[in-house]
Amino acid sequence: MVTEVVDSKDLKKFAPVFGQMSFDNHEQVVFCNDKDTGLKAIIGIHNTVLGPALGGTRMWNYASEWEAVNDALRLSRGMTFKAAITGLNLGGGKAVIIGDAKTQKTPELMLRFGEFVHSLSGKYITAEDVGMTTSDMDLVRTVTPFVTGISEDIGGAGNPSPITAYGVFMGMKAAAKYAYGSDVLEEKVVYVQGIGNVGESLVEHLSNEGAKVVISDINQQRLEEVRDKYGVTIYEGDNIYAEDMDIYAPCALGATVNDGTISQLKAKVIAGAANNQLADENIHGTILREKGIVYAPDFLINAGGIINVYAELENYGKQEIIRKTENIYNTTLEILNNAETNGVTSHQAAFDIAQSRIDARKKER
Ligand code: NAD
Repeated sequence: MVTEVVDSKDLKKFAPVFGQMSFDNHEQVVFCNDKDTGLKAIIGIHNTVLGPALGGTRMWNYASEWEAVNDALRLSRGMTFKAAITGLNLGGGKAVIIGDAKTQKTPELMLRFGEFVHSLSGKYITAEDVGMTTSDMDLVRTVTPFVTGISEDIGGAGNPSPITAYGVFMGMKAAAKYAYGSDVLEEKVVYVQGIGNVGESLVEHLSNEGAKVVISDINQQRLEEVRDKYGVTIYEGDNIYAEDMDIYAPCALGATVNDGTISQLKAKVIAGAANNQLADENIHGTILREKGIVYAPDFLINAGGIINVYAELENYGKQEIIRKTENIYNTTLEILNNAETNGVTSHQAAFDIAQSRIDARKKER
């Protein structure tokens, strides 16, 4: 076996964990390694002031370990603010497993991962994210109770994606109300980028309301399936960002609102499910505001999934899940109005409310 030897002078090039670009006073970062199963995982626990750190596990073929650390730090921080703005008593955490979910995910690896989660005694509670399924979480549940997103037949709340999509739909309607004076999406041209679990469900809501939906994805088969099911249009061009549209709904990747795309955007509203849509929260949030594009903060409107898994911890049912998710409409409108009153971006307005909730709880302690 060849071991990569890093010259000590090269070490200076690498920021250690506490100096990582995405490090934001995370409470704990746990590196998990198991030679027998090949498990290499990182659990980021950003903040536990409001409660245990809950966030999904992502399995991804990262180009480097630094990229994995960065992802765990960035995603766990995002969960802190998502839970706080949604009014849940949860902190922010996220786990990443390094590897290809299609070829390297084995039951043994998932069980070993579950044991690492268990060793944190509930400070971190896991769930599914990219590369994970409900049945993976069911397996993890056999070695630890600190897991959510498990199947309904073993007492879980099931697949969170339809609820996430419903929350995004609510947030989109609120943003439309703010931008156009009406939340009716009939006849609005909506581009949904990424028609996976959440995107497809969002397409269904939009079609039911009579919106003119255009879909894009890198998976042609899925495009055709979703088109045939809902009678929507497949995007045939090669630059979605320059198209005439009323609403842009990023439901695939993060960072699609960036230096390269922002000047082309003609949409009046951005509202989608993807995490971290703004490549740079401050710079791109400000440009959107200056351009008069109404941005529904991603971590606020895609919180349906966490509301769904929180039900497993708090023992509330579907009705309460729907009620909490519908409330995303009111919170989005409140945030957009606050942003205008205070002369800040919508992202900043949402972030400030989340942070003040955390600060208030810290004071109470
Ligand atoms: P998914 O993997 O089911 O779907 C993603 C889709 O995006 C796939 O169909 C994929 O082919 C497509 N895609 C990938 N690259 C693309 C590109 N360059 N252009 C167009 N399409 C592309 O994922 P999902 O569960 O639907 O989640 C979508 C997004 O929402 C992710 O960013 C996820 O982190 C976020 N999110 C999901 C949930 C949830 O409950 N599933 C909750 C919160 C946030």
